[in-house]
Amino acid sequence: MKKLILSASLLMLLFSCAENDSTDLVSATNEVAHRGCASHDVLLNKLNEDPKLANRMNEIESFTELAIKEGRLVNGKIEIPVVVNVLYKTTAENISLAQIQSQIDVLNKDFNATNSDFNNVPSAFTGVKANVGITFVLDAVVRKSTTKSSWRTDDSMKKSNKGGIAPTSPTTKLNLWVCNMSGGILGYAQFPGGSSATDGVVIDNNAMGTNGSASAPFNLGRTATHEVGHWMNLRHIWGDATCGSDLVNDTPSHNTANYGCPSFPHYSTCSGTPIEMTMNYMDYTDDACMYMFSNDQKSRMLTIFASGGARNTFAQP
Ligand SMILES: [Zn+2]
Repeated sequence: MKKLILSASLLMLLFSCAENDSTDLVSATNEVAHRGCASHDVLLNKLNEDPKLANRMNEIESFTELAIKEGRLVNGKIEIPVVVNVLYKTTAENISLAQIQSQIDVLNKDFNATNSDFNNVPSAFTGVKANVGITFVLDAVVRKSTTKSSWRTDDSMKKSNKGGIAPTSPTTKLNLWVCNMSGGILGYAQFPGGSSATDGVVIDNNAMGTNGSASAPFNLGRTATHEVGHWMNLRHIWGDATCGSDLVNDTPSHNTANYGCPSFPHYSTCSGTPIEMTMNYMDYTDDACMYMFSNDQKSRMLTIFASGGARNTFAQP
């Protein structure tokens, strides 16, 4: 959708309080009915706590816009080392290395267009479906036993003095925390511009990887794909507002989040009534029903790693 002017987009971020879906996500059994991602809510909290964060994110936004305009993207391969921090109370929560590796494998497929469902992208969107070309390698697994039954979105899982695990080398390694999230939240990510002490991605242990404790319909590893998208500066495809902007040009306007597995074509009632890209990783559809990034989402992600970009330290050979 059309990129709004910068100030407008930031205002949107600040004030479009996402009355989040998280409240209606939980059934009595704590089974997650449909996708809930807390990244935007957490961002709103952080913007409140840190008055300088909005400035830093504004600068990143200006840089992104200019770098895309000038074609200053990354030359060469980006390989991201991933540190997986596992917090467990039960044996089942202490997920296996095989489950962790299954998640790394999904990230590599989804970010390199080798996911088997990439061919399912409907012809309406084949012109914009992207091979992002970023790879991930498992660097280390850090495990810690905890007495906590569940974790909230307050970043305590990232702090050793709160019972969590502090990130390892967060300016050069992507830290991924796996724990039992409360409130039906499947995960959340920190956007570029935030504090390195809390940088990374959190994934609920029932939405991690493709085996072990991974639970349908979120057992294909797409929660991490979605959250890593945020970590690389992607917004929800509906812009966290009714017909909002995701700051990307080649995605259609969405009324709001889509859940489950919408049948194609699902039309937006936003301006121009476009067909919504419900199979985009940045929507809220089930794992089996999201299988593409767009070319402009790719550009937006790659600028973060360019010289002068917020995550350039990850792109060093
Ligand atoms: Zn999200």
